[in-house]
Amino acid sequence: MQNTDSLEQRSMIEAPSFDVIIVGAGFAGMYMLHLARELGLTATVLETAPGVGGTWFWNRYPGARCDVESMQYSYSFCEELQQEWHWSERYASQPEILKYANHVANRFDLLRDIRFNSRVESAIFHEGEDVWQVSTDGGEHYRAKWCVMATGCLSAAQRPNIPGLGTFKGEIYHTGNWPQEPVDLTGRKIGAIGTGSSGIQVVPELAKLAKHLYVFQRTPNFSIPARNQPMDSAYETEWKQSYAQRRTAARTMPAGIFTDIGTKSALAVSADDRLLEYERRWAAGGTGFTGAYSDLLKDEDANSTAAEFVRKKIREVVTDPAVATLLAPVDHPIGSKRICADTNYFSTFNRQNVTLVDLRSNPLQEVSENGLTAGSQFYELDTLVLATGFDAITGALSKIDIVGRQALTLKEKWRDGPNTYLGLMTSGFPNLFIVTGPGSPSVLTNVIVAIEDNVKWIADCLAHLKTRGAETIEATASAEEGWMEHVGQAAEGTLYTKAKSWYLGVNVPGKPAVFMPYVGGVPTYQKICEEVAADGYKGFVIEGRSESLSARQAVG
Ligand code: NAP
Repeated sequence: MQNTDSLEQRSMIEAPSFDVIIVGAGFAGMYMLHLARELGLTATVLETAPGVGGTWFWNRYPGARCDVESMQYSYSFCEELQQEWHWSERYASQPEILKYANHVANRFDLLRDIRFNSRVESAIFHEGEDVWQVSTDGGEHYRAKWCVMATGCLSAAQRPNIPGLGTFKGEIYHTGNWPQEPVDLTGRKIGAIGTGSSGIQVVPELAKLAKHLYVFQRTPNFSIPARNQPMDSAYETEWKQSYAQRRTAARTMPAGIFTDIGTKSALAVSADDRLLEYERRWAAGGTGFTGAYSDLLKDEDANSTAAEFVRKKIREVVTDPAVATLLAPVDHPIGSKRICADTNYFSTFNRQNVTLVDLRSNPLQEVSENGLTAGSQFYELDTLVLATGFDAITGALSKIDIVGRQALTLKEKWRDGPNTYLGLMTSGFPNLFIVTGPGSPSVLTNVIVAIEDNVKWIADCLAHLKTRGAETIEATASAEEGWMEHVGQAAEGTLYTKAKSWYLGVNVPGKPAVFMPYVGGVPTYQKICEEVAADGYKGFVIEGRSESLSARQAVG
């Protein structure tokens, strides 16, 4: 909370003032800065890291790679940018994505308005002045009328609460917070905990380096071979010849990804045809596998045809049948947890220097100075790699002390789960925008599409407020309630709620189990956002400078 000593008060009054403060210099924050400048607004970005890139700055573990094709996992807002940039692989590696982020920052001269090494600790709304005061860990204070949280959905690494973890004498690395300096793991006895997307990517790379690698698995996951390859120049040319049209077409697809999505039910075709289609998609590689049929994420029987196909593939690849059985997921429908894309993940378990340890039958007991005990077995280790995921979607926001009207904290407001209107704003917190917030499609899409659409909507909204001479915009409680009901209902009709996943927040002890993303898809969501704006920002209260404070105008 706000420190009220006089020195602090003085520095608050003297704090640099901007029209917009943007928290985070990932893909959302960078684009927001670019658009804020285009509107003629003064803006600054506050960023914890010493560089741009957001989650791609921190997730620099061996094997880190995007699971959306690089021709699509990039900004679409500038034709020259998308024409000039060359991706070297079908799926970009983390270093290449970071290079791209830096290219964008330089190309649009963004760096001069980004303050690096500045972790935002608090953002407090001052009601009398209608100003946000934002403070960092360095004791710096800033003031702005508008505050945009571009803090990311997968940016707060989740360290597991394992007894004795602090006593371990070797190195501990978290995939989501990997060191910036090179790490040499050659010849080490490594223990890797976690088999989600990060674990599935890092394990094959660790296996190449380790003297021995123990993979501690609690829950197996479905994974499809990525079939990554050097960029095919004909494919790149094809994309670049019609980039704008393809980007538009991508936005007509639920995940914002230009791909072929089956329109038939998996149960409406013969078993032979289904097999052919699954084989075709398995050979093509990538997460588009679950787009084979229209009902794979809606109907359990349809889903089990795809799940069984993948389990069979795992049994074919993994030579030890007992290990194959452990690696084959049976506790959730395929795609109900984020499906993974891998490079040689399952075949890694055929290596002599790799051991799979099943934590279901051998529960993790403790970490001690020299290793880890699971069941009754002690595993001597030099290094622990934690691929244990994120406090997703709300984690980065809940690390900041965000205080709205009447001293209400966001943590308190979201105690039973996050509430937003369109994922973009939350009532009681005027002028605070969230990019890819809970209640928006965010993590269920090509997130760059979700980011661009949210940021553009916010920028258009700021332009509208500027023209109107407005002081504040705030979601109404009733619009928010209606939206959250819609978000909940949309998820109910799907298989997403059948898995214990980070979509529901159940991977974080004490976090309320609420399905956070909006499953309605990019086109539906974007249409709603555009209609709300066209309808005079229906569901928001806008207070104008010329209007008296008591004459709140409920627009719509
Ligand atoms: P995750 O999917 O949440 O996986 C975390 C893993 O750690 C799970 O296997 C979990 O087991 C395990 N775990 C957590 N705490 C544990 C404990 N105390 N003891 C034992 N095991 C524990 O996290 P992630 O792999 O970092 O992926 C998160 C998301 O980031 C992905 O779903 C994806 O959206 C994104 N991502 C994308 C890419 C890509 O683009 N290719 C790469 C990496 C990440 P349980 O399942 O049993 O809880």
